Amino acid sequence: MTRATDARAGRRQRLLKALTELRCDAAVIAHPPNVRYLTGFTGSNGVLFLSAAQAVLFTDPRYDLQAHEECDCRVRVVRGPTWESVWKHAAPRCRRLAAEAEHLSRELWRQGEQRLGRSVRLEPLAGAVERLREVKSPEEVEAMRASAQLCSKAFQQATRRFRPGMTETDAAAEIEYRMRRLGAQGPAFETIVAAGARAALPHARPGAACLAPGQPVLVDMGANADGYMSDMTRMVHLGAPGRPFLELYGAVLEAQQAALAAVRAGAAARRVDQAARRALRARGLERYFTHSTGHGVGLEIHEGPRLGARSDETLETGMVVTVEPGVYLAGKAGIRIEDTVLVTAAGAEILTPASKELVVLES
Ligand code: ZN
Ligand code: ZN
Repeated sequence: MTRATDARAGRRQRLLKALTELRCDAAVIAHPPNVRYLTGFTGSNGVLFLSAAQAVLFTDPRYDLQAHEECDCRVRVVRGPTWESVWKHAAPRCRRLAAEAEHLSRELWRQGEQRLGRSVRLEPLAGAVERLREVKSPEEVEAMRASAQLCSKAFQQATRRFRPGMTETDAAAEIEYRMRRLGAQGPAFETIVAAGARAALPHARPGAACLAPGQPVLVDMGANADGYMSDMTRMVHLGAPGRPFLELYGAVLEAQQAALAAVRAGAAARRVDQAARRALRARGLERYFTHSTGHGVGLEIHEGPRLGARSDETLETGMVVTVEPGVYLAGKAGIRIEDTVLVTAAGAEILTPASKELVVLES
């Protein structure tokens, strides 16, 4: 067995253990990142049936070749509705079947209950695969590192071409083009480029607004490299920034560094959030920080753990999270600084190496 298939077999074993805790003897998994994590299959239509006795991936004829190439478990190519075959296969092979309630439509759930009949109970899997995915293996950490490095490099290449008069859309396209040229499958999410006061909208979509001399630009970007996502926010300024902006920037950077310093295996996730808020409070800016400090990242751009005021998770070695405090002054300015970091026993290892010194471009 290769190392990758070895790792996937291990993941399926860990899921079986979690199933025992849920008093289930089998599971069906269909959420694509979860299927990929457990089988290697990257197609859009795949359902894994997993029990102690077998692992079978159901897919349709479009994915015949691909599934056999990618999966390290049995593959069954079925014509007609995939789920019908899955329920039929599962019914005689289990008593309590777990399924991803949060990813299945109510209709499919009802169909399952009906097809499985009275002798099988359908139970919610309650994020069990997502929890396994939070802690990355050494191979996954390498993939995350590569994704973050690619992201940083694309940022450096693209921002060099930023000019006054360029639209946010053009700037975002330049970034995504650079990511692809560097080997990404695409962006991890729709790239955010927000010029001037538009950066005060934390999720601004790029539009026809232009980059203007004497104004800041917020860039929030990430790469999808081999299925692993990165996430990074940096500020660029066209021409020399004024003092008020520099002070705000300094305050956010201070908050980000305080939050980074709180990241460590064994630390409560909410402590990281508290550290960022405390630093901003000292500058009278806490109320302008309107979202949580970070989130896990991996096969999906937003996954567990959440780094917020109400998080009850504990950070573990091998988790990969973002640290991204920001301040948003409506109609005036928005500043966010974000890194993707690896949690270690010693602290946070920053995976996104782009410098956090404010990037000042000639205007
Ligand atoms: Zn981001
Ligand atoms: Zn983020």
